[in-house]
Formats: sequence, C-alpha cells, structure tokens
Amino acid sequence: MKKHNFNAGPAILPDYTIEKSIEAIKDLNGSGLSLLTISHRSKDFDAIMDGAVAATKRLLDIPEGYSVIFLGGGASTQFYTIPYNFLGTKAAYLDTGTWALGGIKEAKLYGEVEVVASSKDKNYSYIPKGYKIPTDVDYFEICCNNTIEGTEIREDWDVSVPFIADMSSDIFSRPVDVSKYSLIFAGAQKNFAPAGVTMVIIKDAFLEKVVRPVPTMADYRVHVSKNSMFNTPPVFPIFAALKTMEWIEMSGGVKEMEKRAIDRSEKVYAELERNKFFVPTVEDPADRSRMNITFLLKPEYAELETAFLDLAKARGLVGIKGHRSVGGFRASCYNALPMESVDALVATLQEFEKSN
Ligand code: PMP
Repeated sequence: MKKHNFNAGPAILPDYTIEKSIEAIKDLNGSGLSLLTISHRSKDFDAIMDGAVAATKRLLDIPEGYSVIFLGGGASTQFYTIPYNFLGTKAAYLDTGTWALGGIKEAKLYGEVEVVASSKDKNYSYIPKGYKIPTDVDYFEICCNNTIEGTEIREDWDVSVPFIADMSSDIFSRPVDVSKYSLIFAGAQKNFAPAGVTMVIIKDAFLEKVVRPVPTMADYRVHVSKNSMFNTPPVFPIFAALKTMEWIEMSGGVKEMEKRAIDRSEKVYAELERNKFFVPTVEDPADRSRMNITFLLKPEYAELETAFLDLAKARGLVGIKGHRSVGGFRASCYNALPMESVDALVATLQEFEKSN
C-alpha cells in the first residue's frame, strides 16, 4: 500500500534527495568511495559544503554581510548557544508554545528574560498580538512555526533590536526577508534533510556583539571563520540538505514551495471546516500553520479518536496522531509532501464522516 508520510520530523524528503543519497552512499561521484566514508577535508566534501552554503544563499536571496553555517546538534542546541553568545543583560522572547519555551528556559540561565506576550491562556492556539518589544534588550527571539501547536508567523517583522527566529519547521516554505534578522536557525529534519544538522544564518555584524567568553564549540565566530569545519561536520545530512535544495531550485524555488504549501493547507483546512466531525485547533486562519495542520474531533465525537486513527492507518496515512503533549491529530505537510497525499487525507476525513 502507498504510504502518505505526515510525520512531523524526521519527515518526508523529496525522492530526489533519497535517490541521490543512495547513489552517493554507494559511490560518490565515481570516486570509488561511499559518501559515508569520505574525509570531511576532501575536495569532494568541500564541494558539498560550498554547494550547500551557496544554494541556501540563492534560495533565500541572502544579502551580503551574512554567513551560513551547518552545525551538529539539534535546533535545541541553539536554544542555549544564542543566549550564551548574545544575552548580556536582558533578552525578549515571544511565548508561542513548546519550542519557544525551549529557548526561554535556556536563556534564563544567562540573564533576564522578558516574555513580551504568551498564548498559553488558550493552549497556544493563536499568535499573540498587540504587545511592545522592549528596546533595552540584547535581542528578541521568536519561533516562526510552532510544530506542535500548529500556529505560524509568516511575516518578517521590522524589529528595532536584533531579531532572531527559529525556522526549524518552515524554512524554505516561503521567501524570507533575511535582512530583517540577525540570526535564523533551522534544524534540518522537517523541511530539508535527515536529523543531525542545524543551519544557522547569521549577520556578520551581530558576531561582534558576543557578550562573554564562549566555549569553542558554542562560539558562532569560530564556526563562521572555519566555514563550519572547525570540527567534523555532519557529512551525510549536509549532502542530503544540498540535494533537497537542488530539488527546490529545480521545482521553482521557495516561491513555488510557498504556492504548494498554500494549496495543500487550504485544501485540508477547508475540509476540516466543512466536515461535521472535525475542527482545526487554530481558529484564526491568519495564524494557522501551513506546515503542521493540527485538528481535533469535536467534543461530542471525542470518543471516536481511536476509530479515526485506525482508519487513517488503514488508508496508509502515517504520523497523523497529534504530539503527545497536546493530543488530537496533526498532519504535517512539508515541502516534499505531494498533493496526492493531501487528497488521501481529505478522502479519509470524508470517508470517516460518511461511515460514522
Ligand atoms: N524548534 C522547532 C520549531 C522544532 O519543531 C523542533 C523539533 N521538533 C526543535 C526546535 C528542536 O529540534 P531538535 O530536536 O533538532 O533539537
């Protein structure tokens, strides 16, 4: 049976990435060596690393004065690396859920944290609005796409202090005005590679704002000056990242990814609103994630949860169960998810309605 991969991360990757990875694992560029066994100091890997940096810059149209690095450790590593480098006295954070809180918790180890607003009062089902960002902070950090709660910020705000964004689960799903940010980070395992690498886009001038002595491996300046090669980088995920970026470029770039994300998510949300059994967890369409579509059975049908999960499984839908911390359901619709899978989800929602 055809499987439809709605996993939240690690998640679906383009067939192109997987096929090119298989070829390279067997024999990289006819070198007679596997990608998994080459030196990270080899010419072959230099080309992979340089290619991944260049492709990131092209895809996101990154202006002069920014560096792109690929680091080991998950996106969670950035939660402490950022305050370690940049939190001198006070930082501001927007509390939009689990992954925003990941950053807030670590920042508190290094200085004062001002949470400018929170949507905790409604289970993080909306993006807070109408708050002030203090001007006396070292930076302001947000999580753009809230993978677990299903909300998303898609505008690149004008912020008067250094602006930092976690784009782990929506990177490459829309054009981004990188010039608005001092630092963007994204773990790979949602939209561009297998787990094991995190991309960081950093404004070079921001590197001059480091506030304390930093251990070498946590020092952005070291990784930038060594082109991500201070230590052994995650060779395979960086290769896969490059292949996914090639696939995005061949498919029409991030504008096309955005169009596909809109088409996919509009179809699913429209069905969730129409279907008498289900309801999206995020009420305001402007706050709804295009990447992670979270939904519930209406309270009067709540006891049918297992029945729906069983049907989804029988129809080849994988990864539909909501995150263990929030329950319900979640359909993650990353860049590589074909419309065919969205259609299978919609058909299953309709079948469930008919048969219950
Ligand atoms: N930020 C976001 C938005 C995420 O979705 C995740 C992982 N689901 C993380 C950070 C943490 O990533 P990692 O597991 O790579 O540390």
